[in-house]
Amino acid sequence: MFRPVENGADTRSSSDSSLREEYQVGGCIRDSSDVSIMDEYDVVVVGGGVAGVSAAIQAKREGCRTLLLEKGIMLGGLATLGLVGIYLPLCDGNGQQVAAGLAEELLHLSIKYSYNDLDPYWLKQGEELLPTSRYQSAFAPMGFALSLDEIIQEEQVDVLFDAVFSRIIAEDLFDSVLIVETKAGRVGFRTRVVVDATGDVDVLFRAGAPCIEADNWLSYWGYTTSMKQIRTAVETGNVQDAVVLHMLGGLADGSKAPDTAKYKGTCPYEITRFVLAGRKLLLDQIKDKIGEDIIPLTLAAMPQLRTTRRLSGLYELTTGDAQRRFADSIGCIGDWREAGPVYEIPYRSLVCHETPNIISAGRCISAAGGAWEVTRVIPAAAVTGQAAGCAAAMAVEQERAFADLELRDLQERLESAGVITHNPGACD
Ligand SMILES: Cc1cc2nc3c(=O)[nH]c(=O)nc-3n(C[C@H](O)[C@H](O)[C@H](O)COP(=O)(O)OP(=O)(O)OC[C@H]3O[C@@H](n4cnc5c(N)ncnc54)[C@H](O)[C@@H]3O)c2cc1C
Repeated sequence: MFRPVENGADTRSSSDSSLREEYQVGGCIRDSSDVSIMDEYDVVVVGGGVAGVSAAIQAKREGCRTLLLEKGIMLGGLATLGLVGIYLPLCDGNGQQVAAGLAEELLHLSIKYSYNDLDPYWLKQGEELLPTSRYQSAFAPMGFALSLDEIIQEEQVDVLFDAVFSRIIAEDLFDSVLIVETKAGRVGFRTRVVVDATGDVDVLFRAGAPCIEADNWLSYWGYTTSMKQIRTAVETGNVQDAVVLHMLGGLADGSKAPDTAKYKGTCPYEITRFVLAGRKLLLDQIKDKIGEDIIPLTLAAMPQLRTTRRLSGLYELTTGDAQRRFADSIGCIGDWREAGPVYEIPYRSLVCHETPNIISAGRCISAAGGAWEVTRVIPAAAVTGQAAGCAAAMAVEQERAFADLELRDLQERLESAGVITHNPGACD
């Protein structure tokens, strides 16, 4: 039975306890011998969105045997399955790059098999150019999916599609079995540590970590094309003009909300209503234009929910933390909504004490308000994913709980991988 909780409530006490009973650190509370163990890994990353891909690549680069589990059949999560075709900025809006490392690598992969509108300034630094726009680009989601297929294979990360994580059984501090639903039935993967990049903290929630739920306004993004658009593209010579991205519905903060309904991303009934109502927004917009030979090009293959459930970690990043220096910062992100503010992301926002061998990454880290708006987007997912993958490798090597890692070591490793860990403009 699903019992939705109030917006912002700590779900530990209010949710169905039978969903989260297996994980208990240091003790085998439920035998995993009733499932066949398919393989053993140092690191299993659950969720193949931008955060999960970054985490898996970084863990592999650090020398870990790494598995990436994805319930769909495409990498990229909301950026591909969810048709979000704008890689938001790596800069502060004043010409200064603040996010790099895998966040930058993935920006370039997003436009590798795609259109792009990258400002030449960001490609030719050193030459006498001034930025006319931010370090960001539009991209074709399906092109990004193809380049993610390529990189994940080049990096030799094991990937399993059509594999839905369902439960975690902790047999010891660094020995857990992830129960995964596949076409071969229910199978297990033994792992030392886990990166939860599900966007919904599915693993951390099941393991009993403190979590927070939130609501979504109705919104829907979808692509169409029409004879008119195709003619325009022929005239301009730009294939991007052949497609239209419809951004329908309201924003997460409630502005421009077309209705007052709110939807929880943890209740299957509400997810279904959200998806059907969203697709109807697109249909309503195009059905009167049939004379223009308009057709829907592609529909989202995952619910376009901005927020569902996130970790309540050791530190919750908030709006007031813009420009603040954190000793444990693992990377920076600019505010895509306005030029100027930059957030350092503290490592403590990725971890909690309750689940020593599980770390979060992506849109489900511990952040609220304006800081949530800034850390939930694609480049920030890459930043936190890379940090989580690096931390996972350290936790495996040192057999230390995520919350107990030596932060300066982590920062040094990230810096040598190209990450900008501190914002030069930040103050204590
Ligand atoms: C309508 C909308 C518009 C947006 N616009 C922009 C924008 O313009 N630019 C921008 O940068 N960001 C935008 N965002 C935000 C951004 O797209 C996402 O927040 C970001 O891509 C999240 O990445 P992620 O890897 O953390 O999570 P996700 O992309 O959600 O990836 C999670 C992955 O985990 C998988 N998964 C989930 N549960 C399981 C499970 N149990 N087992 C196995 N796999 C599982 C999912 O299938 C998915 O692939 C938008 C979001 C929405 C909804």
